[in-house]
Amino acid sequence: MNSNLFKSGIVSISGNPNVGKSTLLNFILGQKLAIVTPKPQTTRGAIRGIYNRENMQILFVDNPGFLKPKSLLDDFMIRQARKNVKNADLVYYVVEPRIPDELDVKNQVSLFKREKKPVFLLINKVDSIIKCDILPIIDKYKLLYEFDGIFPVSALKGDNIDVLLKKTEDILPQGEPIFPPDMISDQYERYFVEELIREKIFFLTQQEVPYSTTVKVNEFKQQNQDKTYIRADIIVEREAHKPIIIGKGGVMIKKIGQKSRLEIEKFLGEPCYLELFVKVVKDWKNTDSKLRSFGYER
Ligand code: GDP
Ligand code: MG
Repeated sequence: MNSNLFKSGIVSISGNPNVGKSTLLNFILGQKLAIVTPKPQTTRGAIRGIYNRENMQILFVDNPGFLKPKSLLDDFMIRQARKNVKNADLVYYVVEPRIPDELDVKNQVSLFKREKKPVFLLINKVDSIIKCDILPIIDKYKLLYEFDGIFPVSALKGDNIDVLLKKTEDILPQGEPIFPPDMISDQYERYFVEELIREKIFFLTQQEVPYSTTVKVNEFKQQNQDKTYIRADIIVEREAHKPIIIGKGGVMIKKIGQKSRLEIEKFLGEPCYLELFVKVVKDWKNTDSKLRSFGYER
């Protein structure tokens, strides 16, 4: 490998909740890494994925949306997002295909400007509008900021993503790969397992329950040659949430377990034995030390 020609760097995927950041990351990496749901704000931590090509490696960081902090957890997430922009070589600023809200755009680009990062504007979901509607949107964005590139894309269908990656290659610095090329993520498999279980809780339970739930894998081991054993705690904030997760006669937790197991097996490529427990940790979202023990870092 000739390192003179090799490009490597960090791309931070930023933008409001629900604009399609996780979908984009998943399309580029061709694997289900970030969870995608129709409910906003389901991506909690930054999920890193590594994109490898013969002459380029990109470390992608998928940020939680910029939201107004309501709890200590929100506050942690926003700080994480800022840190990611600081470390990035390039920012993808992802937006909906609509005439923008000026104030919102100015708020967000002020951070990129302060950190002096090149920014690509990605107008996503272009598959959902008619072509001639894109131009006035682009014109409006051009008035608001001098972007280093503007790309109408569809993260869902993959439209224009090849062009985006080519331009990304042009802008990234030359350098050695940051990670071994056979690694798709620098995060532990257990993190993905936690996210997969959390995703199932999102789909199966309602109201405020999923938002006050976190999942912690406590054991993850090869049981025998071709089976993985995983033990995880589903942590809820209130005693009252416990019976909702468990369900009548354990029906709900059984469903969560079954659906999770199927996806975990797909992800790991082998059978898995999954054991789930429900625990109440009062106010886990607002307690600093507890947050840290569940993996959210300041
Ligand atoms: P995030 O919060 O920014 O990570 O957004 P997600 O990736 O979770 O996507 C939010 C919703 O938008 C999901 O229902 C996606 O299927 C949908 N979505 C994402 N990208 C596209 C796209 O290119 N076209 C269309 N039509 N929908 C999309
Ligand atoms: Mg997301």
